Amino acid sequence: MIESNDWRLTGQKKLLFQKTLYFRTWKAPRPEWDHDHCTFCMDKFAALPDTLHEGYTTKDNYVWICPNCFNDFKEMFQWVVGVEE
Ligand SMILES: [Zn+2]
Repeated sequence: MIESNDWRLTGQKKLLFQKTLYFRTWKAPRPEWDHDHCTFCMDKFAALPDTLHEGYTTKDNYVWICPNCFNDFKEMFQWVVGVEE
């Protein structure tokens, strides 16, 4: 059970509570943009070895969440997993 004082919680609830998330493969949105971080644990998403390559993201690919944090916080945030159109 995740506590509300978990170190990874830094106010994401305002942005992410009850959002629909999509499981996607990370790819660079622009050539000069080479990585993102999990919005909870800060693990790195990139097209490099030893980084995360897929995870949960908002529809606009703005926020990324690693699979571990998704599992830890899905009840607290009441996420819905969306189906790609
Ligand atoms: Zn994470």
